[in-house]
Amino acid sequence: LVEASYNRIHEVDDQIGAFLTLDEENARSQAKQLDAAPDQQARLFGIPTGIKDNIVTKNLRTTCGSQFLRNFDHPLYNATVVDKLDVEKNVTIGKLNMDEFAMGSSTENSSFTPTRNPWNTAHVPGGSSGGSAAAVAAGEVLFSLGSDTGGSIRQPASFCGVVGMKPTYGRVSRFGLVAFASSLDQIGPLTRRVDDNARVLEVISGIDQMDATSANVAVPSYTDALTGDVKGLKIAVPKEYLGEGVAPDVKEAVMNALKVYEQLGAEWEEVSLPHSDYAMAAYYLLASSEASANLARFDGVRYGERSDNSDNMMDMFKYSRSEGFGDEVKRRIMLGTFALSSGYYDAYYKKAQQVRTLIRNDFESIFENYDVVIGPTAPTPAFQIGEKMDDPLTMYTNDILTIPVNLAGSPGISIPCGFSNNGLPIGMQIVGKAFDEHTVYRTAYAYE
Ligand code: GLN
Repeated sequence: LVEASYNRIHEVDDQIGAFLTLDEENARSQAKQLDAAPDQQARLFGIPTGIKDNIVTKNLRTTCGSQFLRNFDHPLYNATVVDKLDVEKNVTIGKLNMDEFAMGSSTENSSFTPTRNPWNTAHVPGGSSGGSAAAVAAGEVLFSLGSDTGGSIRQPASFCGVVGMKPTYGRVSRFGLVAFASSLDQIGPLTRRVDDNARVLEVISGIDQMDATSANVAVPSYTDALTGDVKGLKIAVPKEYLGEGVAPDVKEAVMNALKVYEQLGAEWEEVSLPHSDYAMAAYYLLASSEASANLARFDGVRYGERSDNSDNMMDMFKYSRSEGFGDEVKRRIMLGTFALSSGYYDAYYKKAQQVRTLIRNDFESIFENYDVVIGPTAPTPAFQIGEKMDDPLTMYTNDILTIPVNLAGSPGISIPCGFSNNGLPIGMQIVGKAFDEHTVYRTAYAYE
């Protein structure tokens, strides 16, 4: 499997650009050791894996898609998720491209190379986990890990026709995930199929002493959820998720999927999430504020690059950051610093937190009467490379359907549900109650 994975990478990754770093020598020798001692118990025995490059891997370069960390070759430890995969004897093949510090929706903000959509290389794979989605879609690895702050697992999964899960906030340890917006970030799996996804999430879930925000909630067997039975399941379809701005072919694909659920014995009804309109504004304030604080650690001293163009400490901080960060990262740091500055805190950050509570309440009241919420993952299929790069605000609107789910903290999966008029995959999002990934997988598997 490991051989096949590298063969495929050498065959196609020149055109796709999913990988930033390969760990070929290590992976091969690990595979040899595994072959010498087959282990029936190991749940991911020998499975070729790709890891998003903001998840720390011991002694394997971890760049976050940023020039700032281009020489961060020897992280000292593994993220908890990487250790958990290791216990089940997976093989890490390499590190996957992403928008710089996970800020973006197309992987064009990577400061190394854009990744291309394997279905049509003139199009983006989505982002920020674009490398993670493209590598799975192109058959370069059997699964990958991504991270999702406002949609960065689900939107690229949707654009690349694969399955991507953002678990409940707190379900998976964030220890070793380079923080973007700590109150929103979650790690999750990208796979070809729903059952594989459930298997991987089962391995990486659970409380972790190293992450105080990881939750002490029992992890059920997600694979037990794969029954195909959705009789009596109650589905809510928010009218705000099928409104203006959602492409007709996307709408049609989701409506067709709802018909399939009807045939399987589930019921669906239109509902309203009245505060959806405010989600994007609240998210960009909160995420940028948290990012401005989290990214303060990149100062030219502790990690990565240090500018040579200075002869005093303040200039050294300043030049290291000006030279090391790309435009989008700078934009977010400035926005966040402004929003948190004294005198503005109540008007911006506090207000955004209040909106966040309203959005969470919207979901909670829906979940009093329904098992899952279904809608499109993204308003459009994959757009063209370059199409949205001059206008950050249009880029931001691509996450309008995924962001509310992060604000609410709920689990959400994107699964393929058809193709657009121009032959690109369309994804459908299934959102569940907090810590009810089980029902999300049951719903997803029945459709697949
Ligand atoms: N596209 C969104 C942003 O740029 C979401 C990113 C993410 O989920 N990491 O913030």
